[in-house]
Amino acid sequence: MEYRRLGKSGLQVSALSFGSWVTFGKQIGESEAEKLMHLAYDAGVNFFDNAEVYARGQSEIIMGNILKKSGWQRDSFLVSSKVFWGGDKPNQKGLSRKRVVEACHAALKRLQVDYLDLYFCHRPDLNTPIEETVRAMSDLVTQGKILYWGTSEWSAQEIQAAYSAARQYNLIPPTMEQPQYNMFHRERVEVEYSRLYEDIGLGTTIWSPLASGLLTGKYNSGIAPKDSRAEIEGMGWLKEKLVGEEAKLKVEKVGILTEIASELGLSLPQLALAWVLKNPNVSTALTGASKPTQVIENMKAVLVLSKLTNEVMEAVEEVLANKPQIMIF
Ligand code: NDP
Repeated sequence: MEYRRLGKSGLQVSALSFGSWVTFGKQIGESEAEKLMHLAYDAGVNFFDNAEVYARGQSEIIMGNILKKSGWQRDSFLVSSKVFWGGDKPNQKGLSRKRVVEACHAALKRLQVDYLDLYFCHRPDLNTPIEETVRAMSDLVTQGKILYWGTSEWSAQEIQAAYSAARQYNLIPPTMEQPQYNMFHRERVEVEYSRLYEDIGLGTTIWSPLASGLLTGKYNSGIAPKDSRAEIEGMGWLKEKLVGEEAKLKVEKVGILTEIASELGLSLPQLALAWVLKNPNVSTALTGASKPTQVIENMKAVLVLSKLTNEVMEAVEEVLANKPQIMIF
């Protein structure tokens, strides 16, 4: 495994990490989840990602049980949660001081840990003044309940505003952002955030590096495999992205990318994961898996970065034909 610093912080995070969205508590139970986490940890993964909203808390309960049973030293892994969607009643959603503090306490209980290593504001909350959220997060750090805080899917402007508020009031600023990043989704990481890496030392824990499985080739036939996340109840919106109209153009590219991967002696998931890791502004790529074979295959991606030479990257670029442009006025 390769370890990278989370932005300009001192924290070392494995280049490939492991998250539980869709899978834990929905697609798989605790014993299967345990196998996957152990395979990932044994491959050198040190960061396990979670959120209060995943399976409505069940995902954190499962991960907490597994961590507790594991016998792993607490300083050998990082565990996260995210606050935003806690329930339907007033004060169960968003990023008010009450929400952030109560959600943190509940996540600590479900995960059975004394502190969260990383804590994310899962989406921006336009109804809460930024200073209120920043102060609540900063206080949690001061109290030792979380170690680093950050955002997920916030615009560059929103992240900058949080950073400025922290600096203005002498609070602890955000360290990282969790954006989607993969071959088909590039704009934010490659262009929008580009100044933040240097200016505020932003780290990134990127999600869906395989575009939920589209970048494995398993949806190329236009039919979702029965055991895939696309077939889970309530995931119709995702199925549409994987086999609907939107996917048709992408599937053609996936076919050519599979050939490039195979010429390099790689599987497509390995090429797609190595491709995101070639970006030095990616601190860690959060992988997901519902089966042990997927973890085993994906973890090998970290060993093959040297195969992605400039020529290979150019060939991939030509197939993707979606390089985001930096606008200069
Ligand atoms: P991916 O895009 O990598 O998708 C993972 C899924 O793809 C797996 O569950 C599996 O689905 C399939 N898959 C993975 N590897 C293989 C393989 N080698 N061969 C075939 N199929 C494979 O990542 P996720 O979308 O799961 O995101 C990763 C993590 O990012 C999440 O767990 C979560 O922690 C975080 N996240 C954060 C978000 C945010 O808003 N902050 C949003 C979404 C995710 P299947 O069961 O269908 O086979």
